[in-house]
Amino acid sequence: MNFSKKIVVLGAGESGVGSAILAKKQGFEVFVSDKGAIKDKYKQVLEKQQIRWEESVHSLSEMENAYEIIKSPGIPEKAEIIKFLKEKKIPIISEIEFASRYTRAKMICISGSNGKTTTTSLIYELFKNAGFNVGLAGNIGKSFAWQVAENEFDYYVLELSSFQLDGMYQFKADVAVLMNITPDHLDRYEYNFQNYIDSKMRIVQNMDKNGVFIFWNEDPIIQTEIEKRNFKNRENASILVPFSDEKILETGAFVENKEIKILYKNTEFTMLQQDLALTGRHNTYNSMAAAATGLAFGITKKIIRESLSRFEGVPHRLENVLKIKDVLYINDSKSTNVNSAWYALESMKTPVIWIAGGVDKGNDYSMLHELVQKKVKLLICLGIDNDKLNQEFKEMTKIVNVLSMEKALKAAYFYAEKGDTVLLSPACASFDLFENYEDRGNQFREGVRKL
Ligand code: ADP
Repeated sequence: MNFSKKIVVLGAGESGVGSAILAKKQGFEVFVSDKGAIKDKYKQVLEKQQIRWEESVHSLSEMENAYEIIKSPGIPEKAEIIKFLKEKKIPIISEIEFASRYTRAKMICISGSNGKTTTTSLIYELFKNAGFNVGLAGNIGKSFAWQVAENEFDYYVLELSSFQLDGMYQFKADVAVLMNITPDHLDRYEYNFQNYIDSKMRIVQNMDKNGVFIFWNEDPIIQTEIEKRNFKNRENASILVPFSDEKILETGAFVENKEIKILYKNTEFTMLQQDLALTGRHNTYNSMAAAATGLAFGITKKIIRESLSRFEGVPHRLENVLKIKDVLYINDSKSTNVNSAWYALESMKTPVIWIAGGVDKGNDYSMLHELVQKKVKLLICLGIDNDKLNQEFKEMTKIVNVLSMEKALKAAYFYAEKGDTVLLSPACASFDLFENYEDRGNQFREGVRKL
């Protein structure tokens, strides 16, 4: 056992508390420290488990003698406490790295700038429908470490953010799915895109010939990294399974005659694109990635088809809310960067009243110009500082500035004509006016119902 070793957990949210429970179970001395307030429900858990904790402070005296630190993905590298621990040369890892040491389950890992949650949920659904003993964790739902402590799953479907990947070193994915890499969270990566790319590519580190790497074929960044890292030809290379809607591939997933086709080892999977439950080009990618993962684990074509055609979608991702006077209201509040807003606008088939704005993470809006000119009849800027959006789009469309969801919806309702779509797809984070993207989406949904 590990009685003489001390683990300090930084951040007492879902992942931190889960890590503390697992560490305690593994016999470590455990201390939990949070610079903010800890939620009551987590305090109760820690008390019950007899785990020591502190809030509103990080006591350095508690950290100095730690064997290892498990850091919440929310704490940035530049935080004082992290600088201190680095100086002391105390290893800092993520919950995922820690918990993976204590399970033999197969790891199916999904990352990317956009599409993680949707694809992760699709894959989890597939595995459940196939009767697999599977857990869902990572950047979604219940803590991975907590589940490792309390369950005996044979498979885990893990959504991994770049912040989680940053604290992963020995972890090895069995299947890695990388949806895309576009600039995001640059404020956490010294405004250096390559740092963020390197973080995302950690998803394939340590993988060998038993691994499967599924990725978007047309992503120039991923392709460059594959070349640079000599993925194709190196000894022990994993099986590469690209997905594409532009090219016919020899192996991998692609679209031919409005049909999705996947060629994987000796299996050929086909499904009509129109039978996919999720619409939009990006969701074709997500569905292809999920289906390829299913095939890699021998899930039957029938179950894959059924699962992909029945999937109900994830809230706040291009979620149809209501049609009022023949105007459709769509909640895409989870669109927190330019790329996801591009896919939302791209999938619109009617004139659009577009609600956007919030906290700009260093956005470059130029990729949206064409779509805005073509489809957007009114841009409603919903944010405290709308300057950049106004400057960017003032020549292309009519603009209204508002400071609340209620006002945004009033304006949308006033301007909308029969056949239009009102789309909330902000391209920005939500923290200026809302608690988080869920709060923003919920206010949209409730506001629409009151119109
Ligand atoms: P993530 O977990 O990576 O944030 P989500 O599945 O929650 O991804 O979707 C976030 C946003 O990105 C939503 O607006 C959604 O419509 C859009 N989106 C989903 N899949 C993709 C994709 N493959 N490429 C680009 N945008 C996507």
